[in-house]
Amino acid sequence: MSRTNRAGRRGKGKAERRDDPATRAFSAGLAKAMQNPALRALDARVLRTGGTGGTRADGSRGAGAAGAVYSADTGENSRAPAHGLARVDSYGTVHAHPTRRAEPAEWTWAVAHCLLHLGFGHAPAARGERTQPDRYEQAARCAVVNRFLVSFGTGRPPAGLPEQYPGGTEEELAARWRRDGIPAEYEHCGAAGGEPDVLLLPWDGWPGTAPPDWQQAFAHALTRTMSAAMEVAGGRRDSLTGARVPRRPWERALEWFVSSYPLLGGVAAGMTVVADAELARAHDISVAAVDAAAGEIYINPLKDHTDEEWRFILGHEMLHAALRHGERRGARDPYLFNIAADFVVNGWLLEMGVGEMPPGLLYDPRLAGLSTEEVYDRLAADLRVQRRRLATPRGRGLGDVLGEPLVPRDPAAAYTDLDEFYRRGLQRGLDLHERDPDRGLLPAGLVEEIRALAQPPLPWDARLARWFDEFVPRAEPVRTFARPARRQAATPDIPRAGRYFPPEEIARCTFGVVLDTSGSMNRTLLGKALGAIASYAEARDVPAARVVFCDARPYDAGYLPATEIAGRVRVRGRGGTELQPGVDLLERADDFPRAAPVLVITDGRCDVLRVRREHAYLVPAGASLPFVARGPVFRVR
Ligand SMILES: [Zn+2]
Ligand SMILES: [Zn+2]
Repeated sequence: MSRTNRAGRRGKGKAERRDDPATRAFSAGLAKAMQNPALRALDARVLRTGGTGGTRADGSRGAGAAGAVYSADTGENSRAPAHGLARVDSYGTVHAHPTRRAEPAEWTWAVAHCLLHLGFGHAPAARGERTQPDRYEQAARCAVVNRFLVSFGTGRPPAGLPEQYPGGTEEELAARWRRDGIPAEYEHCGAAGGEPDVLLLPWDGWPGTAPPDWQQAFAHALTRTMSAAMEVAGGRRDSLTGARVPRRPWERALEWFVSSYPLLGGVAAGMTVVADAELARAHDISVAAVDAAAGEIYINPLKDHTDEEWRFILGHEMLHAALRHGERRGARDPYLFNIAADFVVNGWLLEMGVGEMPPGLLYDPRLAGLSTEEVYDRLAADLRVQRRRLATPRGRGLGDVLGEPLVPRDPAAAYTDLDEFYRRGLQRGLDLHERDPDRGLLPAGLVEEIRALAQPPLPWDARLARWFDEFVPRAEPVRTFARPARRQAATPDIPRAGRYFPPEEIARCTFGVVLDTSGSMNRTLLGKALGAIASYAEARDVPAARVVFCDARPYDAGYLPATEIAGRVRVRGRGGTELQPGVDLLERADDFPRAAPVLVITDGRCDVLRVRREHAYLVPAGASLPFVARGPVFRVR
């Protein structure tokens, strides 16, 4: 912007400028970002145009903060990006584009993004010559900031930015991208469009004064604000007088995670401790148990533990929930898998020094470094271990990872995306933990698991194949020269053993399909769904599936090779769908193995289903089932 222009604008007066839509959107977005106490506490400044003065990050207008590189009155505006939204410098000033139009939520995002660069230590104030980050460092830092913002839920990124970001610290990402190149989607995911959004300047504050420590200010503010928010939300402070209400030891322990242990703080903030002696007695809960789906930790309030022990107990249950131990066990023995998870979780908590382990819980240093699955395999091979009744926090011989909530809940009130909640909570915790030098190292296995959770979810067909792998036994073909191999014709001189599946194998290795043919299912999606089933069956030698077509009533199609299901589908009528009779038919069929899983393919416009065996749903993306599904739901895209 030229001086003449600026002078002209200045002449129009503030009131008029504040009324234009671009300014209104910016102000609304900025105000929203500043509602976040941790961002506000950074004491940064946000500048938008020359000549109108700075807006301090706490929202107040006024003279620049002490040590500001230039006076707001000079109208210096060259540091705003040419096309993007904003850029931050190491003086703690966010330079917003003076005229650009954007949605308020996008401004909120841009301001938060810039302030997080400060808070994450990407723009430290320092004297002397500065070296700007190279494009790899820049991209990695923006990616880490965006990853955190996804979990922070502040504002909305501009269109075209990725929804997922890879795990790892900014140093690791930068190193990887320097070696392999920056993936296109992460190249320009900052707030300044295609330009760098962080500018390092030499600090020239008064000699003898220390430059501000943005990172420390942010860390302290985050801790303070999270614990204050938690106290008010949990009714710990009287809202009128602000006086603290005395708390129970487990409440203090949960609060400690939120305020002082960022790794699990995000998870802790979303969990409820249900302290009900009667409930604990009725469900044999000696000390504690957890239900991940409800986000509830059940404890026995009659148990006397120190604050340190309660921390250990709650940390133990939160890790079970956040790492999805209930869902990960698959077809394994639930109790033994629970025991394996306890060994792993307790080992980590001891290594991290979280609280004190109450006596009697499981710990074996020889299992250090193993994953829950690996520990399970060892336990499963050790009959002596299996004969002993080992203790979880729930008690001897009982698992503390519950399969369902103990307090009946309204299904409509269930978490819509529980995976997302735990995934984001842990990822955010890891981000905060790793950037605090005083926190110490985390167990490598735990970091690995959190990073694995943070990876973008597998596509539905890959997850469906995994589900099949877990629940459909593999057929063992018999090799025999009595049957020619399929490839025999290619090499007539060399006898090749053919493979065939004895009838008893075919009977054992199968799955059921209940297919909604009521006509409302999109043909393309149905084709994709059946195609995925067919290619799985082909790859894993599943000779045939037991198929029932359903609309107003079930039609038993018997065993069909998976490749033939698509050809047999007839849209029979539009008279509503009743899938339960189809499920019942399979469950009663003499020729269908008791252990075989059932896959229900429906558009969701169906009756409420009860399936008593292992089962899953295949539904179009965007469709919802009229009940809370117990089995996994795969969404076809
Ligand atoms: Zn950035
Ligand atoms: Zn446990």
